[in-house]
Amino acid sequence: MALIVQKFGGSSVKDAEQINNVAEIVTSAYRAGNRVVAVVSAQGDTTDELEAQGLAINPSPSKREMDMLLSAGEQISAALLAMAIEELGCPVVSLLGWQAGFETTSTHGEARIRRVRVERILKELDQRRIVVVTGFQGVDRYGDMTTLGRGGSDTSAVAIAAALKADLCQFYKDVDGVYTADPRKVPGARKLDFISYDEMLELATLGAQVLHNRAVEMAKKYNIRLEMLSSLTRTRGTIVKGERKMEEMLLSGVTKDDNTARISVIGVPDRPGMAFKIFSTLAAKGINVDVILQSIGRNGTKDISFTVPSPKMEEAVALIEEQRENWGVTDIISDEDVAKVSIVGAGMETHPGVAAEMFEALFSQNINIRMISTSEIKITVLLDKADGDRAVKAIHDKFFGDV
Ligand code: ASP
Ligand code: MG
Repeated sequence: MALIVQKFGGSSVKDAEQINNVAEIVTSAYRAGNRVVAVVSAQGDTTDELEAQGLAINPSPSKREMDMLLSAGEQISAALLAMAIEELGCPVVSLLGWQAGFETTSTHGEARIRRVRVERILKELDQRRIVVVTGFQGVDRYGDMTTLGRGGSDTSAVAIAAALKADLCQFYKDVDGVYTADPRKVPGARKLDFISYDEMLELATLGAQVLHNRAVEMAKKYNIRLEMLSSLTRTRGTIVKGERKMEEMLLSGVTKDDNTARISVIGVPDRPGMAFKIFSTLAAKGINVDVILQSIGRNGTKDISFTVPSPKMEEAVALIEEQRENWGVTDIISDEDVAKVSIVGAGMETHPGVAAEMFEALFSQNINIRMISTSEIKITVLLDKADGDRAVKAIHDKFFGDV
């Protein structure tokens, strides 16, 4: 008998038909003799709709009240799923975040989980009940409802799995696993059987929309075995775990992120401390900087280019603009028409020449590279946005083409 946490995303519970389907999945795991905790997101676009309703009444509501509003979405899906499970004849109880023991910080809208007191969940499981828990929410030490940030219910599921020392944490989404590239865009994309936490983390951070990156970090920390699968197809998904076997694939995937912008700071005085000034100014405002490139100093100046998420571009440019004279910078150029294309793979660490092959694929399509950055298991290039899809396809063909 295993203890399984099953997480269902918004599209998997979007209507009565989907909820009944999820109830089948949960009850069949239960009837197979497992102890089952199901964690749910709000139905479909409910969270967006609730947020819009709130903002229509008050364009800048307090974060506390926004949490009161948004947490209602998960309450609805939890209750509906519990009713569907009752209807299938299994004992079940649904619990809100506070009832399930989710203690969080007080940072409304982006609360962090401090711990999960699982006594209540354990008591229910011991009574042979299925436990349905609302994802995304918790309670702070003042007894107020909090939410974990958008997409946070993945993190709720892993937190419960860690606290219960679950054998497996399954994620049912609308895709049936992790692919070598976006299957909607790259026809030859293949589903992976296994992927490591580190690779998954790179993919999640690169915006591959597979799993909330805090969830992957936590799974890695507590060594929770994850499985990504679809609530529709009922086929084997992708397992995320510690290490992959040596003989497995060199790369796990190719991803593209369009939601990025490049900023170049031109004519920066070539002396110590300038990079520190620029990047600490951005960091102080919570602006995440990714690929960074600095030119060689010439005639006493250098250029520093970097990428930021597109929605942060204007703010970042304004912050540097404010200091321009002070810092002695000549010019600031920004460009939103760029895309980041990355390859991720643990096998890269032991295989030389992966970068050259990636660049060759781009060259074969006559695609120009604007910036390059690498980590042990990732290579990222910045390209013109218009070249993005062609680049992903060329790189995917090169590495995954004929196997
Ligand atoms: N319902 C919340 C959201 O859409 C949490 C989640 O689905 O993970 O952000
Ligand atoms: Mg959602």
